[in-house]
Amino acid sequence: MAQFIQAVMDHFEWGQYVLFSVVLGILALTEHFWPRRVTGEGCQGRRKVNLLLYGLGGLLMWWVAEPVQTAAVRLGTSLEWTGLAGSALPGVPKIVIGVLLVDAIQYLLHRASHSIPLLWRMHQVHHADAAFDVTTSVRHHPLEVAALAALTLMLCAALGIPLVSLLLYAVFQLVHSAFCHANVAIPLRWDRRLRWVMVTPDMHRVHHSERMDEGNSNFGMVFPWWDHLAGTYCVQPVLGHKDMHLGLANDNDARPDGLWRALSQPFDKLP
Ligand SMILES: [Zn+2]
Repeated sequence: MAQFIQAVMDHFEWGQYVLFSVVLGILALTEHFWPRRVTGEGCQGRRKVNLLLYGLGGLLMWWVAEPVQTAAVRLGTSLEWTGLAGSALPGVPKIVIGVLLVDAIQYLLHRASHSIPLLWRMHQVHHADAAFDVTTSVRHHPLEVAALAALTLMLCAALGIPLVSLLLYAVFQLVHSAFCHANVAIPLRWDRRLRWVMVTPDMHRVHHSERMDEGNSNFGMVFPWWDHLAGTYCVQPVLGHKDMHLGLANDNDARPDGLWRALSQPFDKLP
């Protein structure tokens, strides 16, 4: 098992880009044939910006991954307790609980990204996308990518999350994040069933609404249960999925949605 984990870790760094490219291709084709919303003109431009941000985020992570991992390992080993990894629980339940805990951490960090001004400055770049498709999933400011990766790893180290849980979650989230941002028309009855076990594109699109009440709901990353437990679940947008307005409500920036605008957005004066 240890050898398997090491092999996955060794290949994950580059393997994630191959996996994402395959998922992106499949979902882009699905969006083309079964779109949920009509995509307007200028979509190619924003897709290019989103993919460029993905590339820059990857470059920054390549640079900071090692010191962040070293700091997390140092934190984990300096604590008195060994957390979940050192508990007497059997292997499979321990791994499953670990996966659930990582998702709960993601939910809390996402909520914090909406309520803590410094984190919102970076996270607003994701919400500034005026449309919603598979490329929106990678529209994150590079600083946000690095900051959230560091916070997630530190919290996981403090809780003693098993490495295999972290790896499983990373692979699952990579695929699921692309899926839940996809502009695909899933029949309502399928969507209703899927929502019992995972965040669906319709559920997450509500979170990208221009309306504050809808934007401050459905924070869940992979599993929808945290929103139900915390009372932040919103079933459908008031205007419906086809007519709802996406993006930032008070976005008065007249500049076109280019790469420089996205990169400088965290440093702009907040309205
Ligand atoms: Zn958000």
